[in-house]
Amino acid sequence: MKTITVIGGGFSGLTLARALLKEGAKVVLIEKENRCGGLIRTRRLASGLAESAASSISRTARVDRLLEELRLPALVPDKASNRKLFYVGRPRRWPLGVFETLHVVWKYVAGKVKRRLPPLPGESVSAWGGRCLTKPATEKLLAAGLQGIYAGDIDHMSASLVLGPMFRRDRGRYLGLVGLQGGMGVLIEALKKDILARGGEIRESVEISGDNLPTPCALAVPAPEAARLLRAQAPALAERISRIRYAPLVAANLFFEEDNGQRAFGCLVPRGQGLRTLGVLFHRCIFPTQDRLSCERWILGGATDPAAADLSAEGLRELIRTERRRILGLDDQPVESEIAVWKQGLPHYDLTLEKILEDLPEPEGIWLHGNWLGGIGLSRILERSESLAKKIVRESA
Ligand SMILES: Cc1cc2nc3c(=O)[nH]c(=O)nc-3n(C[C@H](O)[C@H](O)[C@H](O)COP(=O)(O)OP(=O)(O)OC[C@H]3O[C@@H](n4cnc5c(N)ncnc54)[C@H](O)[C@@H]3O)c2cc1C
Repeated sequence: MKTITVIGGGFSGLTLARALLKEGAKVVLIEKENRCGGLIRTRRLASGLAESAASSISRTARVDRLLEELRLPALVPDKASNRKLFYVGRPRRWPLGVFETLHVVWKYVAGKVKRRLPPLPGESVSAWGGRCLTKPATEKLLAAGLQGIYAGDIDHMSASLVLGPMFRRDRGRYLGLVGLQGGMGVLIEALKKDILARGGEIRESVEISGDNLPTPCALAVPAPEAARLLRAQAPALAERISRIRYAPLVAANLFFEEDNGQRAFGCLVPRGQGLRTLGVLFHRCIFPTQDRLSCERWILGGATDPAAADLSAEGLRELIRTERRRILGLDDQPVESEIAVWKQGLPHYDLTLEKILEDLPEPEGIWLHGNWLGGIGLSRILERSESLAKKIVRESA
């Protein structure tokens, strides 16, 4: 079998390279930066760990197996973090009133009985919400929940892409979340070490251009980069992929001397509350042993407020300070902070992406991977890495 080149050393590329090696393939992984991890980067500050992207993973049997094989002890969230808050005038456990709740339960159950719940092709999340839920539930519950994961705009997001998997019979059982002592950077390092131990090669600070695309290869890079790399060899496919939109995102890690007193996972902020924050995670409550000081992680930007990513670090700090005063009623200053601004943060799981992913052709000897092909979260990426590795080995034999 020829050596498979994996281009891109983010979580997608690393887990694909490892899965290929486990299937018996020879692998070279190429990363253009001088470090692997892509969006994921953990910085150790004096106050604790600052994460630039993922800070926990949805636990599945597959994720458990990966951590076990890499000998990484799983950090289980504190029970208090089972509580989630929504900001509707003030932080609340449940964003809907009694009648709103009864109405949405009735509508949902009726939809279930009539088997009308699975999303329709070309249906937006807000249209699905209008059909299967109620307007208040769609805006305050569904949109708020989804903006915490996809940072998208429900008027354009594809219901099939983001809600469809919930209705799949073969969906894995959700077992909660899992973190890592030392942060997500530890997982990236462990993946690299395992790839090398299995005989794989990792070349960092090497950039591949579209003219010298080595085949067979797997592109595990963001969609605009995949489009650029494919332009010479597969212009029609490159043009199609180049239409995939990305939403900018800001992840601000703030460390406070005083605990904020919140016993909850975090607080989601539905649109329409006059706030720009998408949500805030209370890390001290989720993983109490991870940081020295109380860490809050504020998420801003996304498809509904791309301009947030254009603010300066000072502007973002000031904005968060104002909104923190309203959401938590606190005005103390962080002792330390680290802000990651991703101008091209996450692929927008919108109706354009749904259309583009329908029967996406792959040129011979080139396979596509990344968080724009079926899942933004790490557990979904891992699932795809393992099935794609089997496909690549089968097709390149
Ligand atoms: C703020 C934020 C919070 C998040 N929180 C969570 C969370 O809590 N849980 C969760 O599961 N997920 C979370 N995610 C999502 C998750 O982190 C990402 O979906 C995932 O890390 C993406 O990995 P990737 O490998 O697909 O892409 P990337 O991380 O973008 O990696 C792509 C890699 O390809 C490299 N590359 C690009 N072009 C080339 C080239 N020409 N040659 C060689 N290399 C190239 C890049 O340098 C990069 O290393 C979050 C994301 C963000 C932004």
